Amino acid sequence: MKAVFSEEIVRLGQEIEEKIEGRLREVDRIIDKNQWKVIEAFQKKQVSDYHFAGSTGYAYNDRGREVLDEVYAEVFGAEAALVRPHFASGTHTIATALYGVLRPGDELLYITGTPYDTLHKVIGKAGDGTGSLHDFGITYQETALTAEGNIDWSAVEAAINERTKVIGIQRSRGYDWRSSFTVAQIEEMVQKVKALKEDVIVFVDNCYGEFTEEKEPTEVGADLIAGSLIKNPGGGIAETGGYICGKEKYVQLAAYRLTAPGIGGEVGAMLGTTRGIYQGLYLAPSTVGQAIKGSVFAAAMFEAVGFTTKPAWHEMRTDLIQAVSFDGPDHLIAFVQGIQKASAIDSHVVPEPWDMPGYEHPVIMAAGTFIQGGSLELSADAPIREPYIGYMQGGLTYSHVKYGVLMALQTMKDRNLL
Ligand SMILES: *Cc1c(COP(=O)(O)O)cnc(C)c1O
Repeated sequence: MKAVFSEEIVRLGQEIEEKIEGRLREVDRIIDKNQWKVIEAFQKKQVSDYHFAGSTGYAYNDRGREVLDEVYAEVFGAEAALVRPHFASGTHTIATALYGVLRPGDELLYITGTPYDTLHKVIGKAGDGTGSLHDFGITYQETALTAEGNIDWSAVEAAINERTKVIGIQRSRGYDWRSSFTVAQIEEMVQKVKALKEDVIVFVDNCYGEFTEEKEPTEVGADLIAGSLIKNPGGGIAETGGYICGKEKYVQLAAYRLTAPGIGGEVGAMLGTTRGIYQGLYLAPSTVGQAIKGSVFAAAMFEAVGFTTKPAWHEMRTDLIQAVSFDGPDHLIAFVQGIQKASAIDSHVVPEPWDMPGYEHPVIMAAGTFIQGGSLELSADAPIREPYIGYMQGGLTYSHVKYGVLMALQTMKDRNLL
């Protein structure tokens, strides 16, 4: 180990680990709660080995698929769920939920500021011609967060009108230097928004949030939520897919959009994916906990060498993302390349900034992952734009994240940046 990491960096890592001990135990308690929640849902729905069989063709009456939806609904405290490998990504899943419930003349209002980059083209603008929401006559508004990072309620009140059909909430910070919203905060948002307009549908982009707390947004009143199976709830095992949970009528509409009206979730061959999706859900509480512990360690380490982090190591977490503000592109690039260098997969490649589809700035990404783009696995991304914030997330094992962070710091040191 000494050959790779300088003694100074190894020693710092040991000191930091002692300092964060109490926080790590708190994460263990959340893992325990969520692990039993998931096991109880499996037990209640009597999940059996035969549910894991693949299905082909139309796949009518695929019991494994039907029970999987029921297990997800149970875990997320929702009326219904739609869990499918046919969702190509988180963006596709979110888009399906939105197209499912929005109709021409309706308006979507995001109250947590500008949403995640890949959703901008889903929302669309005049003259798109892509089939964006805008092309279908669905208008959009968003309210910026206050300087303190809170919901601007007077702006929300002014923005809500008779056409407002869906209120969008993004739980995770995404690529934004803001705090993520806790489930308790989301509960308050649901109540306030419904007091302003009773019949709005509250949609939560739950990406990166699952199992970081003991409750999910659907347990505190959100009507519809969506997320990706190559993030938290896939447990690092699910190979592709997404999930939508919520009120039965809205999940049904999303299912009609995913396949076709009248068909919905009644068809859809699972091929060989079912076992992995179940097993991933079973592992997810524990794996998410590993990643969270890694983020706490990362925050404490980067703080120790003088960078600003969000959240700070001692702060409560409601998603996987650890943001670190670097001094400029050199530190940022060394950070991302260091994470890559500590990977089990593709450690020999050096990430460089590129123009990734769906993103507005060049992005540099470290992703030495078993699942392409799987961000419950240790990965780091950064749009190359001021103020040079790097985002890291995931890690199937806490140990791996520790080495990733040590390697990032070592890379900076080797380049005389520390
Ligand atoms: C990852 C993510 C998405 C989009 O998911 P993709 O799988 O990248 O398409 C949307 N919203 C948030 C908050 C995310 O973290």
